[in-house]
Amino acid sequence: MSVAVPILRTAEEVRTTVDEWRRSGRTIGFVPTMGALHEGHLSLISKAFDHADSVIVSIFVNPVQFCPDEDFESYPRTIRDDINKLEYAGADAVFIPEKDLVYPEGFSTSVHVSNLTDTLCGKQRPGHFDGVATVCAILFGIVQPDIAVFGRKDAQQLAVIKRMILDLRFDIRIIGADIYRERDGLAMSSRNRYLRPAERMQATALYRGLSRAAELACKGERDTALLCQTARRIIEESPLAVIQYLEIVDQETMKPVESLDAPGLLAVAVHFGKTRLIDNIVIDPGANYKED
Ligand code: AMP
Repeated sequence: MSVAVPILRTAEEVRTTVDEWRRSGRTIGFVPTMGALHEGHLSLISKAFDHADSVIVSIFVNPVQFCPDEDFESYPRTIRDDINKLEYAGADAVFIPEKDLVYPEGFSTSVHVSNLTDTLCGKQRPGHFDGVATVCAILFGIVQPDIAVFGRKDAQQLAVIKRMILDLRFDIRIIGADIYRERDGLAMSSRNRYLRPAERMQATALYRGLSRAAELACKGERDTALLCQTARRIIEESPLAVIQYLEIVDQETMKPVESLDAPGLLAVAVHFGKTRLIDNIVIDPGANYKED
């Protein structure tokens, strides 16, 4: 049976709750989200429980990480359903702040993590990672967790947050969680619900393309141009797929790599109609390939 999850609306409520947990000797795990929760998010909560005693989740659709032409207004907001899922997952509290609490009048700060935001999504979505880093810095300041869990689906975001933590000396351990997929391989995303039936069917090409490249790398192929070409060809067999980027990058710096002497990250962004999907896979020339 699930227990009602306390809903916290203010920074003071969060502080009181977290302080109480701490006083009773508990460590604090934090999972920031924008809501419209799916099993991928729930897997992050479960991961947080592997590393902390109490887990708090935040739900905040962060306006400053959306570009002007993006879907901030129409981003799915399913708060009732989200709370049910959090109860089922056993989260200890959910923080749902209003916009004015996060960005009060006069707010003037932006956190910019340079270098690793020049490529991939950073290049395509100017200002996006400043918005992400800024909101995470604010939320970390309010929650002050011991650990925070982020999905590897947003691999560049994970790298940006790790860098920020290091540079700004936040005393928080950042933990990456594996990509959670539908049975047919499509990475779960709050935006998948935008896909029309034909787009949804064709979207499975992303994982097929990525997996094929990973498989070739495991069998010894180190030429990143060839691996990218292979993935691209498979994805482009889906007529509705429009690739925005497809690159193999270093997992920490997010800079392109030409030859695979160490594991790299094959990252892709694809438009299906108005919906933009991202996905990635680790390309490891040293790994042994295993059929699923
Ligand atoms: P979002 O609500 O989209 O901002 O995502 C909140 C967190 O969930 C981020 O750390 C994402 O990387 C993570 N996440 C979203 N989808 C998945 C997925 N399919 N598998 C693992 N983590 C995910």
